[in-house]
Amino acid sequence: MTDIKSMTLEELQAEMERLGEKKFRAGQLYTWMHGKLADRFDNMTDLSRGLREKLREQYELVRLELVRVQTSALDGTSKFLFRLPDGNVIESVLMRYSHGVSVCISSQVGCRMGCRFCASTLDGLERGLKPSEMLDQIYQIQKWAGERVHNVVVMGTGEPLDNYDALIRFLKLLTGEGGLHISQRNVTVSTCGIVPNMRRLADEKLQITLALSLHASSQEKRRTLMPVANKYGLEEVLDACRYYFERTGRRITFEYSLVGGVNDSDEDARELAALVGDLNCHVNLIPVNPIKERDYVQSDRTAILNFKNKLEKSKINVTIRREMGRDIDGACGQLRKSYMDTEKER
Ligand code: SAH
Repeated sequence: MTDIKSMTLEELQAEMERLGEKKFRAGQLYTWMHGKLADRFDNMTDLSRGLREKLREQYELVRLELVRVQTSALDGTSKFLFRLPDGNVIESVLMRYSHGVSVCISSQVGCRMGCRFCASTLDGLERGLKPSEMLDQIYQIQKWAGERVHNVVVMGTGEPLDNYDALIRFLKLLTGEGGLHISQRNVTVSTCGIVPNMRRLADEKLQITLALSLHASSQEKRRTLMPVANKYGLEEVLDACRYYFERTGRRITFEYSLVGGVNDSDEDARELAALVGDLNCHVNLIPVNPIKERDYVQSDRTAILNFKNKLEKSKINVTIRREMGRDIDGACGQLRKSYMDTEKER
């Protein structure tokens, strides 16, 4: 069955014509799905009974099923486990900040990038998510919270630029009129550095923020943490970041996960400052979230502050990511992984 929630308004108009319906029905349908977040065709009360029946018979209205929610007692962060129509499960996160509600979504079931410190990639890639499945994480969370979602970050499980076409369609449906209409400036896409698709994204004329997972200041070290660096070298990746800034005027965010004794020395900080100093950027330091399958440890507090100071002395914008939801299977992919592991044991 056709996945109707992944269709643009223009495509819906063509579908309505095909069904012998008036073109304006497409607008109504679009608003029901993406504005009013209806989960069933039968709730779309201003469509005729006949049309609703045709829709039910011929189209799939993707809806994620909430399997589990965990809410942090520390900061109100909630982690959600959703079941997809094909039975796979994914996770998403809601974070409450003073500037509003942020949702972090997954872009794939699993991941094939193999970053050494990341839990999402341990079991490899199952498949990319459909645009509707990315959207519905946000829709279900907004309904659950009863609050409008202000920011969306594509930083959950998966590599968004390894699911490129679906990502672009998702971004257009999310930020376009008639849907949630979230400002493009409030959307961030995080990548491990798939260079050709970073360049393609730069050419899409979107105003979203691009975050690059850097994690090391030399090609040698980056390769040991991120296998993708064997394919796309550091210089190439940084060139793609420069290109993104030139095309969009949007400042790049560099994510740098601090791993104790691996990438947190004074030398690392100096090298990083030299590497990104000429770029219009912002560095986000993330104390690594240890996963039990690997023996990486978090840098201690002094090393983290020291690293930050060194960057600041070089006039680099830097923040330390607040660790949210530490008490609820913190790191990316851990909630899904622990759920899958217990399912396997049954
Ligand atoms: N595939 C995208 C999105 C992944 S997750 C990317 O690579 O950017 C978002 C960020 O969290 C990435 O920077 C990723 O490297 C980082 N990350 C993953 N696992 C982590 C962990 N255990 N501790 C700290 N950061 C982690």
